[in-house]
Amino acid sequence: MTTTQVICDENRTDRWQFVCPREHRTWEAAEDHFWCQRCASTQDVDGRFHQLRDKVSGERLSREEVVLQSNCDDDLEQLEVAE
Ligand SMILES: [Zn+2]
Repeated sequence: MTTTQVICDENRTDRWQFVCPREHRTWEAAEDHFWCQRCASTQDVDGRFHQLRDKVSGERLSREEVVLQSNCDDDLEQLEVAE
């Protein structure tokens, strides 16, 4: 079983938590890999990578384990807490 991690694209906390292998937060999710803007602009470094790092748990997430949401609704989280 693969667990899926939902990451909110516009959520600052999530952006802090999940980083590229060089600990940048400037990554994007492509169809079957990730891409880091800062790595790509670094000489001799390929901006593409396949495992996102979770700084909190220390785990690495592959592309299929990550769902990147661009329109996260903060109200939804508050509803869950209220119940
Ligand atoms: Zn990077």
